[in-house]
Amino acid sequence: MYSKIKSAVVVGLKGSVIEIETQISRGMPYHVIVGLPSQVIRESKDRVKSALKESGIRFPDDRITQNMFPAHIKKEGAHLDLPIAMGIMCCMMEPHVDLKEIGFIGELSLEGRIRPVTGVLSLIEGFVEDGIHQIVMPIQNLHEVSGMKNIEVFAYDDLNALLKAVEYGQMEALSVEDAIVDQPVLHKMDFNEVIGQNQAIRAIEISAVGNHNLLLVGPPGCGKTMIAERLRTVLPPLSNEKHLESAKVYSLLGERATAHERPFHAPHHSITRASMIGGTNALIPGIVTRAHNGVLFLDEILEFKNEVLQSLREPISNKSVLLTRNHQSVEFPCDFQLIATMNPCPCGNHMAKDLDCTCNDFEIKRYLNKLSGAILDRFDMLVFMDRVELRDVTEKNRSYNSNLISERISKALEFKRHLETQGTEVEMDGETNANLMRYYNSGKLSMRGHSKLFEIARSIALLEGMETINRKCLSEAIAYQGFHRLKHNL
Ligand SMILES: [Zn+2]
Repeated sequence: MYSKIKSAVVVGLKGSVIEIETQISRGMPYHVIVGLPSQVIRESKDRVKSALKESGIRFPDDRITQNMFPAHIKKEGAHLDLPIAMGIMCCMMEPHVDLKEIGFIGELSLEGRIRPVTGVLSLIEGFVEDGIHQIVMPIQNLHEVSGMKNIEVFAYDDLNALLKAVEYGQMEALSVEDAIVDQPVLHKMDFNEVIGQNQAIRAIEISAVGNHNLLLVGPPGCGKTMIAERLRTVLPPLSNEKHLESAKVYSLLGERATAHERPFHAPHHSITRASMIGGTNALIPGIVTRAHNGVLFLDEILEFKNEVLQSLREPISNKSVLLTRNHQSVEFPCDFQLIATMNPCPCGNHMAKDLDCTCNDFEIKRYLNKLSGAILDRFDMLVFMDRVELRDVTEKNRSYNSNLISERISKALEFKRHLETQGTEVEMDGETNANLMRYYNSGKLSMRGHSKLFEIARSIALLEGMETINRKCLSEAIAYQGFHRLKHNL
């Protein structure tokens, strides 16, 4: 008696199809699974046996040999319980359904329930890439696949019900294409609650257009956190393609991505290195990957552990993170926008207009040293903020609101896409370019600083709807380069 069942496994975010061959022959009762199964799958033998018994099936008192291939892929995940059980069942009954082109995923409980699994979206992507469009999966994962095209889903929460359907040829596909329409995201906060700080808000707007990493520096109470948090209210929605990428990450973590809203993560400063970049014990994505396609916000960046900040350097440059365990490596994406706040000194009043700093030079130096050059170098824009005096507030200060900013950002991005389809690139006019070269040649700017400056000036031009970067765009971009002022103190 022989059967073949298809399932899939996930490595990183990528799903690959595997096959499970089952052979049952006369002999001493014995159940072996070969083909690089992990510890979890060896345990699944017991779950499968119990689940089949509880579903009223006599577990065969024979030699059961199951082989998973291709052999080189590590078979990991409790979702292989169901295909393992189906392999055994198909040797013992005559299915009235052609199972060759169906993929199976599901964890089994001891009493025969089909429990939800993680990584469903990656698994399904693996099936579809391999030409398998019919999938048997747990009912409780159904919400994750709503709106997906090209698949036919059979969802069950009970092994017995599934076995009966297979035996009598009564499997019914559910329609998942009727996408749940995203409700527009309602934010509880808005930029119109911020008083003054026009430059910082403008910097937020520019940073969102070009995904520039932004550092806000200023005394306590000047509104740094308030402004940084409100970045989420103006981010453009995710494209379908990017939404799927993010949803795969959340699916792997057993969570659901929230509609097409961009991820926004603000971890507490007590976060560990493993939670930040990913755990090497279970190869689970960290906060940087959850923030993929969205924002990572580090409030009071100097409060974070040094090893955590240092661990961010490579993910920020590479836009991906590599986790390694027992010679196995997986790569997760982490293309996020970084936004952070900090005080300029331990008391916070250094460089503030009307406030007295009580720190001495040594204290300030030691404090800023924590923000090593390498991490500081990962920021593209820096804004010094000061406390707003109520007398400075004019009506104009109140004219910022999240809707208007969000519209301007979307318009700039649309303009960018338009230029891309035309094959046009934003260029700098001759005179401005000469100015930039002079600035570069004066030695105040590194190669990296030069390209950062160009990119920020480009985002400003896009916001203005211009194909050419002029002097005004460049001088505004330079205004967000206060790094030497900060570094001066290092
Ligand atoms: Zn101070």
